[in-house]
Amino acid sequence: MSDMFKVQIDNFMARIVAKNPGESEYHQAVKEVAESLIPFIEDNPQYKEAKILDRIAEPERVMMFRVAWVDDKGQIQVNRGFRIQMNSAIGPYKGGLRFHPSVNLGILKFLAFEQVFKNSLTTLPMGGGKGGSDFDPKGKSTNEVMRFCQSFMTELQRHVGPDTDVPAGDIGVGGREIGFMFGQYKRIRNEFTGVLTGKGIQWGGSLIRPEATGYGATFFLEEMLKVKGIGIKGKVAAISGSGNVAQYATQKVHQLGGKVVTLSDSDGYIYDPDGIDEEKLAFVMELKNQKRGRISEYADKYKVTYVAGKRPWGVKCDIALPCATQNEISEEDAKTLVTNGCIAVSEGANMPSTPEAVEVFLKSKIAFGPGKAANAGGVATSGLEMSQNSMRLPWSKEEVEEKLHTIMVNIHKTCVTYGIEDNNFVNYVRGANIGGFIKVADSMLAQGVI
Ligand code: NDP
Repeated sequence: MSDMFKVQIDNFMARIVAKNPGESEYHQAVKEVAESLIPFIEDNPQYKEAKILDRIAEPERVMMFRVAWVDDKGQIQVNRGFRIQMNSAIGPYKGGLRFHPSVNLGILKFLAFEQVFKNSLTTLPMGGGKGGSDFDPKGKSTNEVMRFCQSFMTELQRHVGPDTDVPAGDIGVGGREIGFMFGQYKRIRNEFTGVLTGKGIQWGGSLIRPEATGYGATFFLEEMLKVKGIGIKGKVAAISGSGNVAQYATQKVHQLGGKVVTLSDSDGYIYDPDGIDEEKLAFVMELKNQKRGRISEYADKYKVTYVAGKRPWGVKCDIALPCATQNEISEEDAKTLVTNGCIAVSEGANMPSTPEAVEVFLKSKIAFGPGKAANAGGVATSGLEMSQNSMRLPWSKEEVEEKLHTIMVNIHKTCVTYGIEDNNFVNYVRGANIGGFIKVADSMLAQGVI
């Protein structure tokens, strides 16, 4: 990159850091995008004159609110709730809700920012948003989770709606939490409407929505491998996390003939050299979704290795799908993966690779699919849920999976169009950033200075 661009990026980032102090994850996400976009914008001066990059990095609206609730002992608990309405140029705000003790404004702004580009890549009419709370569902009874969700939605309901802002799940928010929030929205507003996605199948949900992010990340991986003339069959996969995204990535990799040998949670990882098949996955689903237990119990049950306090990136694998959380692959981890022969990384999680790790992947010329492209299948299928809610007609499982597959193939094509470099190397980071940017930027230009 030329010195001129480096100076422009530094100046832009100095403004972002000054305006958003202490929000390191937000700085990280914006910088990665700015590195792709500033050279592109130089060649497309209409975006420069309209200050699109400065505008896109400023949320349209931020809500921050108190969520008070009463625990099972009768004690009052106070959490903080957020909703970031980042960009509505191409549709109503759309993006998940995260309940995790680490949640703060900077983390949600990074996620909302990524969401703008991701949603644009899906080709569906969805703007970008994100929200959540520092509430920790771990160790809480179902009644406590319900009381928290009801209190959270009592405030959130005034900011969301099917044509305004449509939240979904994310870390700590699955079908159970969506149900409690939907019930409270309906009670307050007296409307049965598609205000949330990820709903239960009997009350407006879409088939394949739970599977969508993990399946989509695997379809994206498949497309990246096709460019190299190979497939998933026979490949050994390391997957992190054991929640929604990890579970369905495991299922799809297995269905396509790959062997998943690791899963993890925040306490450690398991290594199963024989691979996680449907039966073992059913155990993981029961363990994580019903019993809400720890992944170490898998090692006890199947007599395999459990490594406490570590992530799975030291395990030899051909392909890696990080599906837990942000910054879970360090530079060292990335080097280990590459040295061990890993040829492709598809990010099921949002920003799981640090900037240094991304640098290692790009320099090594392995196929690296960044989250905003690779995990867009979740929000894409949320978009399909919104369509079904508007039509009041459900689509079959096959229909939704086929649509999801087509969307992922098209996202991959867009990344190739804008990310192709010398010797047919595809820089998916640049491809996703530019491919996601154009539609939003052109819509902002058309809608005037707002
Ligand atoms: P879940 O809550 O279902 O699962 C999260 C998993 O990641 C759990 O295994 C959890 O372990 C682990 N984890 C969470 N935080 C940490 C941490 N700080 N360190 C180590 N492990 C951690 O969430 P999802 O599967 O829905 O989300 C996973 C990732 O995918 C997130 O980055 C999310 O933003 C992204 N994503 C999700 C989408 C969706 O549709 N759900 C869509 C697009 C992206 P533990 O149980 O110990 O907390």
